[in-house]
Amino acid sequence: MTRRAIINKVHRIVLKVGSQVLTAKGRSLNQAIFDRLAKEVSAAKKKGVEVVIVSSGAIAAGMSRLGLTEKPKTIPQKQASAAIGQSALMWNYERAFTFYGEKVAQVLLTRDDLSNRNRYLNARNTLLTLLDFGVIPIINENDTVAVEEIKFGDNDNLSALVTSLVNADLLVVLSDIDGLYDRDPRLHKNAKLIPLVPQVTVEMEMKASGTLSPISIGGMVTKLQAARKAALFGVPTILANGTVDGIIEKILRGEEVGTLFASEVNKLNSRKHWIAFTLKARGKIIVDEGAKKAILQKGKSLLPSGVLGAEGKFGPSDPVVLTDTQGQDFAKGLSNYTSSEINKIKGLKTTEIEIKLGYKYSDEIIHRDDLVVL
Ligand code: GLU
Repeated sequence: MTRRAIINKVHRIVLKVGSQVLTAKGRSLNQAIFDRLAKEVSAAKKKGVEVVIVSSGAIAAGMSRLGLTEKPKTIPQKQASAAIGQSALMWNYERAFTFYGEKVAQVLLTRDDLSNRNRYLNARNTLLTLLDFGVIPIINENDTVAVEEIKFGDNDNLSALVTSLVNADLLVVLSDIDGLYDRDPRLHKNAKLIPLVPQVTVEMEMKASGTLSPISIGGMVTKLQAARKAALFGVPTILANGTVDGIIEKILRGEEVGTLFASEVNKLNSRKHWIAFTLKARGKIIVDEGAKKAILQKGKSLLPSGVLGAEGKFGPSDPVVLTDTQGQDFAKGLSNYTSSEINKIKGLKTTEIEIKLGYKYSDEIIHRDDLVVL
């Protein structure tokens, strides 16, 4: 598929912005860069592309405020720098995006938030709701609480996980280099930029050198890891130079900038394949004829109003089959609610979920993105 063909299908992107892009030569946050990013992201939004930003820069900003030239060595020092820098980081995004009439939201995540099912769903629902409100989520690792075991460690890998979390169609990683080179461009003058990588291999990751920069964590290795992870979900990645004027516009016009890491699997198919074939159903949801028709003919989500009951014992985000009144299984999906919750809210309107349960994860029992017709 050509780049333009890939880009034409893009409705939602995850944009990872590295510390090197946001800081003026490794020092304080560079306001002009925030202004440019805000301008380009709001232009993309006006064209109908939703953007979720994963931004580094907290530790770098904190270091600059503290007058440190070297990355702090101890974990509490790093956490303190991040705490100081995170508010400066968000303040810059607030200021820059407000100028273009856009609203932003801060979302701080730890690995625990994505490995625990309930918290994964909560994070996902919050992000999707922010997008529904037209707000730009700005995600960073929650550095101040993340001790080693619950750390993502780098925002490149975090951005790949967010890509699947919000079901984005493209991951864009902005760094201070033009893309992936055949050799280390810092050591070899005639190193050549590779415009297209059909498949990221583990060997490529091993070959890539780590970063030499004192302020960023993610070198080329983590960028390749991120691209490989995104590709497994069926999402391509573009690695490009975030210090170049108009880079986001160029990417979204399908211009041959940076390096495109293709994904061999088709996104929908890979996800549907995973739900339909890899996951074992843990229970059943019986639905009425109206809900069945809405799902089969209009590709709709499953709402409580169409549910007659749940069978089996399943938890949130467990795979379940949908069965019609004749006992025929016709679809499979990931449930947002447990079987006992579903039995309490079956037949209700979405506005009544919270009244009945005292809380609500989402309007849908199964969102259409998580639903496959068998
Ligand atoms: N979370 C870190 C920060 O905002 C950066 C991690 C990374 O650069 O990958 O400073």
